[in-house]
Parts: sequence; structure tokens; C-alpha cells
Amino acid sequence: MAEAMQHEQILYFSDAATGLKGFIGVHDTTLGPALGGCRIWNYNNIDEALTDVLRLSRGMTYKSSISGINLGGGKSVIINNQPGQRTEAFWKRFGTFVESMGGKYITAEDVGTSTAEIVHMMQVTNHVSGKPVELGGGGDPSPFTAYGVFLGLKAAAKSAFGSDDLNGKKVLVQGVGHVGRYLVEHLTKHGAKVFISDIKEDKLKSVAAEFGASVLQQHEVIGADVDIYAPCALGGALNASSIPQLKCAVVAGAANNQLADEDADGEALLERGIVYAPDFLINAGGVINCYQEVIGYDEKASLQRTEAIYAKTIEVIQRSSNSGISTHKAAMEIALERIENAKKERKK
Ligand code: NAD
Repeated sequence: MAEAMQHEQILYFSDAATGLKGFIGVHDTTLGPALGGCRIWNYNNIDEALTDVLRLSRGMTYKSSISGINLGGGKSVIINNQPGQRTEAFWKRFGTFVESMGGKYITAEDVGTSTAEIVHMMQVTNHVSGKPVELGGGGDPSPFTAYGVFLGLKAAAKSAFGSDDLNGKKVLVQGVGHVGRYLVEHLTKHGAKVFISDIKEDKLKSVAAEFGASVLQQHEVIGADVDIYAPCALGGALNASSIPQLKCAVVAGAANNQLADEDADGEALLERGIVYAPDFLINAGGVINCYQEVIGYDEKASLQRTEAIYAKTIEVIQRSSNSGISTHKAAMEIALERIENAKKERKK
């Protein structure tokens, strides 16, 4: 799979003393160092973790490319189901593996990691982003991610409904973690009727109480009677089984790798007339903020770059309808064109 996806480098790491085990994946560094978050997850086996790092790191290449930032694609995953092991020593050890990549890979937050873990890593490596604001960083990237998702969702709504006004629109946010919660906040502020789902009862309760959102049970998510579906949990929400059941006109969310099968599921959404805002395009706010940190942090510049997601989403949807290809494919074409052009420039 690594060969088929054309990865530059995969590092397997393990450390018996701390219980640390996982992969760092570097997909492509044509546009710059490979930046992507560190995910810690209870993978069932090592192959599952490897598949995840390969897909996620490749997604980062296209995400940074389409966002116009000078970063390549990378990601790391840690296989761990024992929260008790996740000590300072554990994260410092992970930091040493990041350091061993010599700057080719820059890590940041992802599912299961936050600024607290970044601080531990910072003791042993400078190749981290998403550092706390008080330490000169851009902080948690999630609010920027959520802002970009919100703008991409609005652009997709404009295409589907003729207006990006969300007042009264029924929006389902699946997964109300770091990004999902901020997204619910934006949606509520703009008058949407928000439905939420999560596997964690405490999160559901607190977000429902804070924003007056309606709670859906997990089995009610696919096929829910909503205008917009925002997958903000893990990947694979859009697949051969879920797509035929969707009642929404728009899918726009934060989760990475929403399409279980990029070609077939992208086309299935197109055939069903559902406007899909490609995940790697609209969830780029976080990496944009991390990039800003790498080149010298400036919150205003970061927000401005994130705001470009609206126009880019419109461009992708137009390209999709002009060429009869899925929005995912249209976005991939734009991302690949930039990388190919950079390679040609380099050869000159
Ligand atoms: P998070 O771990 O804070 O939140 C994920 C939430 O989804 C959790 O509350 C979890 O309980 C819930 N969840 C898991 N499985 C679920 C299911 N089957 N149904 C409903 N809820 C479920 O993670 P996050 O940082 O909010 O990221 C969410 C997604 O967005 C991930 O796919 C991540 O890769 C992607 N993403 C995040 C960022 C960022 O800045 N944090 C940037 C780009 C992409």
C-alpha cells in the first residue's frame, strides 16, 4: 500500500520501557516538511494502524497543497489502549522519534493529543507545532479547523440551496470533540437547528446543555432527516452502506478520510446529488494555523488563510459540476496540479 500511495518514508517505532508503539508516515515533501498531527488510538492490530498512517499522511499532502501552504504530508499514529501508560516519559520518547527524522516530519495535535502532550515532546524536539500560546505557539488548532469547516459547509450550502444562510437549517454534527464542539458553536450562532451524536455520553450532555442541541442516538445518525450532515468523528462515515440512506443535501465535516472508497463513494454522492465538501479541503484550518506557527505565528494571517476555504470550496464544486467528476476528485486534481508544477519548477 505504501508503494501504491507513493510514500517517501515510513518509520515504525517501539519502546518497551514506556509501552510506546506506532508509525510516522511521510508521504510527500515536494512543497515542504511533512506536517501532520499525532493520533493515539486503540487500533485492533498493527496493520490497522499502518493503514491509518498511510491514508492520513497522504491526505495531509493534498490538504496542504490545496491550501496553498508550503508543507508536505505526514502523520503519526500511536497504538495504545492503556491511558495509564501515557505519561510524560511516553510522550518524550515519542518526541525523540520525531527528532530522529531531522525535521522532515513536524508533529502536532490530532485525535487523543492536545497541547499538554506537545509540551512534553518540546523537551526533546523542536519539530512540533500546535504549541501553547504562552510558549509562542498557535495553541490548539481545533478552533481554526472548526472555522474552516464552518466556511466550507456554508459554501456547500450555497451550492445546494442557493444561499449560504444557515438560519433554520437542520445540521447534524457527528462527534462533538475538539472540532465538533466549536462547529456546533458557529452553527448555533448562525441560527442552525443543530443535532449532535457522540459515543461519549458526557460530551453529548455538556454540548447539548451548552448550545441547546438535540441529541441523536448512534443508530439514528445515518438516514437522519437533516439538511446537512457534518461527520466530525473518525473516517469512513461515507460508504456503500451509509450513502444510499442519507437524506441530507450536503455533507461537510471535519473528519479525515470520510470516504471509505475515495472513487466509488465520491461518485455515489455525486450521483445522488448530494453536495460533498471534500474533507481535506475544508478541515485545513488547523494545519494552516500550524504552518503559520512554523513560519512565525500571526493569528490574523492564519484566519485570513483559513477564510480562503470558502472560495476554494466553491471552485471545487464548480469544477466538479463542469467536468462531471466527484468533488473529491476535483479537489485532488487541484492539489496534484500544484505539486506537479512545483516539481517542474524544481527541474528548471
Ligand atoms: P476528538 O477526539 O476531540 O473528537 C472526536 C469525537 O468523536 C469524540 O468526542 C469521540 O467520542 C467521537 N466519536 C468517535 N467515534 C464516534 C462515533 N462512531 N460516533 C459519534 N462520535 C464518535 O477529535 P477532533 O480533534 O475533534 O477531530 C475530529 C476529526 O476531525 C478527526 O477525524 C480528526 O482527524 C479531524 N481533524 C481534526 C483537526 C483538529 O484540528 N483537531 C484537524 C483536521 C482534521
